[in-house]
Amino acid sequence: MNLLNGGEADYVVTGAWSKRSVEDAVAYGKINIAASSEAEKFTNVPAYSSWKLNKNAAYLHICTNETINGVEFDGLPESGDVPIVADMSSHILSRPIDVTQYGVIYGGAQKNIGPAGLCIVIVREDLLGKASPLTPAVFNWKTQAENQSMINTPPTYSIYIAGLVFEWLLAQGGVAAIEKVNIAKANLLYDYIDSTDFYVNNVALKNRSRMNIPFFLKDESLNDAFLKGAEANGLLQLKGHRMVGGMRASIYNAMPIEGVQALISYMQAFESAH
Ligand SMILES: *Cc1c(COP(=O)(O)O)cnc(C)c1O
Repeated sequence: MNLLNGGEADYVVTGAWSKRSVEDAVAYGKINIAASSEAEKFTNVPAYSSWKLNKNAAYLHICTNETINGVEFDGLPESGDVPIVADMSSHILSRPIDVTQYGVIYGGAQKNIGPAGLCIVIVREDLLGKASPLTPAVFNWKTQAENQSMINTPPTYSIYIAGLVFEWLLAQGGVAAIEKVNIAKANLLYDYIDSTDFYVNNVALKNRSRMNIPFFLKDESLNDAFLKGAEANGLLQLKGHRMVGGMRASIYNAMPIEGVQALISYMQAFESAH
């Protein structure tokens, strides 16, 4: 609504969320799928050299961390004058980013920022004012920017809690410091998964997400027993999304390294027992 206005846009499909973005976007203009990893069951980001980019695209849309599939971008493609629009819902604030490389960054708050109901949009100023006339004021970035994001009544409670999370994050040393913790957490879990044949993660090494780590038991008939035992040990929400199956450990900023250590201890014990 804010950029396309009946024109053309490029989308790269690397998982469930970017696929859904396409499903929504097709109502607003001509959508070109520049690349897709669906044939590989969303286990990688296709090599940038293989992307079929359209010079006339109003933007190039990517999802830099695919929450359900556990696929994270390493670096950005070269898109020339075409602005990159990135859904960063599930890894924003997990690592430093250079905002100047993007036309638009957006995301829901409910992974690394705060409660649901709050949504963040960072827009390059020259991209304001391109909205279709059918865009309601509340969704129009220019109108929102002109009104300090308060053309509507904002979700005050969610914003208040987000403020507390930002204070907490700054007290940890900020995004640069939490990145180190996130790297340590992810390495711990991937190293363990890779060290045994009992569990497997199928995502290409360079695209393995630091936030969302899907894994499968080699013997899937043990899935229910694994989840039941996990719950008994206080390890919750490990069931993978129904689109992917298996397990998924989401280890957002709020998860301390002790949580990952506890998960690995349980996984080791379960492996020994079976
Ligand atoms: C969670 C998530 C969404 C969806 O957020 P909703 O507020 O539930 O619509 C979109 N994109 C990504 C990458 C997500 O992780």
